[in-house]
Amino acid sequence: ESHFPPSVTPSTCCYCGTGCGVLIDSRDGRITDVRGDPEHPANQGRLCAKGATLHLTAAPGTLQANRALYPEVRTRRDQPRQRVSWEQAMAVAARRFAAVIAEHGPEAVAFYVSGQLLTEDYYVFNKLVKGFIGSNNIDTNSRLCMSSAASGYKLTLGVDAPPNCYEDIGLAQCLFITGANPAAAHPIVFRRIEDARAANPELKIIVADPRRSETAAIADLHLALKPGTDIALYNAMLHVLLAENLVDRDYIAAHTEGFAALEAIAADYSPAVAAQICGIPAEDIVQAARWFGLSKASLSLWCQGLNQSRHGSHNNAALIHLHLATGHIGRPGAGPFSLTGQPNAMGGREVGGMANLLSAHRDLGSAEHRAEVARFWGVPEVPAKPGLTAVQLFEAVGRGEVKALWIACTNPAHSLPDQARVRAALETAEFVVLQEAYGDTDTAAYADLLLPAASWGEKEGTVTNSERRISRVRAAVAAAGEARADWAIAVDFAHRLGDELGRGEEARRLFPYRRPEAIFNEHRDSTRGRDLDITGLSYGLLEQRGPQLWPFPEGAEAGLPRLYADGRFPTPSGRARFVPVQHQEVAEPTDVDQPISLLSGRLRDQWHGMSRTGTVPRLFHGAEEAVLAMHPCDLRHRGLEDGDLARVSNGRDSLVLRVAAVAGLKKGRAWLPMHWGSRFMHGAGVNAFTGPACDPISLQPELKHAPVQVEKA
Ligand code: SF4
Repeated sequence: ESHFPPSVTPSTCCYCGTGCGVLIDSRDGRITDVRGDPEHPANQGRLCAKGATLHLTAAPGTLQANRALYPEVRTRRDQPRQRVSWEQAMAVAARRFAAVIAEHGPEAVAFYVSGQLLTEDYYVFNKLVKGFIGSNNIDTNSRLCMSSAASGYKLTLGVDAPPNCYEDIGLAQCLFITGANPAAAHPIVFRRIEDARAANPELKIIVADPRRSETAAIADLHLALKPGTDIALYNAMLHVLLAENLVDRDYIAAHTEGFAALEAIAADYSPAVAAQICGIPAEDIVQAARWFGLSKASLSLWCQGLNQSRHGSHNNAALIHLHLATGHIGRPGAGPFSLTGQPNAMGGREVGGMANLLSAHRDLGSAEHRAEVARFWGVPEVPAKPGLTAVQLFEAVGRGEVKALWIACTNPAHSLPDQARVRAALETAEFVVLQEAYGDTDTAAYADLLLPAASWGEKEGTVTNSERRISRVRAAVAAAGEARADWAIAVDFAHRLGDELGRGEEARRLFPYRRPEAIFNEHRDSTRGRDLDITGLSYGLLEQRGPQLWPFPEGAEAGLPRLYADGRFPTPSGRARFVPVQHQEVAEPTDVDQPISLLSGRLRDQWHGMSRTGTVPRLFHGAEEAVLAMHPCDLRHRGLEDGDLARVSNGRDSLVLRVAAVAGLKKGRAWLPMHWGSRFMHGAGVNAFTGPACDPISLQPELKHAPVQVEKA
């Protein structure tokens, strides 16, 4: 018998940064189906295979399989965790964190959160650490995702804001897709690219990717560059644009600064020189530059191929230079447009939920910004000392400096580089809290306290997608088991920690929230006058008018579809900046012992560590296991054939993997999907091999490349 009428709840897909709108069908308190929301501007009703199977991940059988349903705690590391009440669990958490803070100071605790949290969750965690605990030790897996894009935007354009919107894909005359494979990573963005191709026979598509990806397969020109040589390619394209008078000197003079220094550098990057560095034909570089420069509107799309590099910030800057030098920015169909990896890496940056940021795109390094945020929160100060960023944070845990660690909605025992050290660090920590919807992730094995978190379809809040569009996430059903919303867990912890520290009243004043809307409103108010001003938005407006682009200041009729149309940039001079950038090697080049460049990326039908997609059998149809793709000659040379097992190793680790012969990879390169970890195979997955080297500006690690040897198993 039905207790509840069937209902339809509009919400947002929880996977990639495309941010597709979904309609959740539910009945009797259970999610029964999901469809694309035809009213949502990001996807207009379309969904990829992951989004279209979301309801299957919420099925009752799935819930029993791997959802975290109850708080669990262990008192000794050699004992399994035992189910406890929320009351007991939160009391333990508060007592242990308070004890560490009292004995070792606030910097001995740290929080590692996620671009998959909702903006409201993120806001509370950030305020908890910087406004109450008194350190800046909160970082996020967005550090692994978009921090180089954020730095690249700030270096060149002044603020961390993707200037374009999805509509621009259909308006571009030249699409330069570089370090991205939207066919797999952003499938509904890729549908737009296919639509643009079908609608416009003149459209040129250039794809720069070391691998012939599914996206490269539809390109007019594929630049299969050597891993990590992006800057040489972009500088050489600039060289050609200059040589063939395809730069816009008027735009450069009116709206930019620093071009002369870069022009001098570009002179050294002839197509012949870059061809040597990048391992691609010089004429292809010339062709790419001509198409980019001659088109009426050129749009670049990029993702982790640029960001996950030890010189990711300069990769981003070098690409953005091409737009500034040609004036391909601030116009319909033209601009540099990063694709966000995770569903809410944007929202996390907006609330300042990273070790070097503060609310509303403020910088921790600015005394003025710290004072503004302290005033806004009603706290004496925000500490000046920068917090530990993702890789640094786990290194500090390993050294015993960070003793208590709170991890929310992410799986560092899968996703961070140099897994052996990360896992050793997790074992070293005195106390690890994991706030998670899934109880069997690789990280769950290290949790002393597991707090079950509400998941997609069960929680309320907002997210921001790649095009700066804020969408509501809505609950269709009650949370599974005893799971609670992430923001609510953080608020409860803040109150209890306050009690333990003798600051209970202060904690209740700072964290009075009973609903996510109150948190959104506070975040909104923090954006007044900032580049991402959303003072014109409210849950009510999002309810009435649907998802909206930022900025959306008070009094605005709509958000801005593209930034910098007036040629003014949010820098002190009002001009965009060219940065003198040079080619640099990858952190760990190949050598005779480790001659293969190991690359990694996403499959279309899986998401991250597969805690959710791994519960849907049909999503394995395209790939049942982690298979290492290599050139047929490289396999033959090692006595291997397609389908054989091979031992992959480097100085860090060794894994046995099945190999596949793929002619679309150049010799000396191998490619492995990032999704498989200890839960699905023996070993830590691709990050068994990656190193901890980080970009010096963004502190994003070089996850995209590691040298390995491959031998017959
Ligand atoms: Fe979800 Fe991304 Fe697929 Fe859209 S493209 S349905 S946001 S996974």
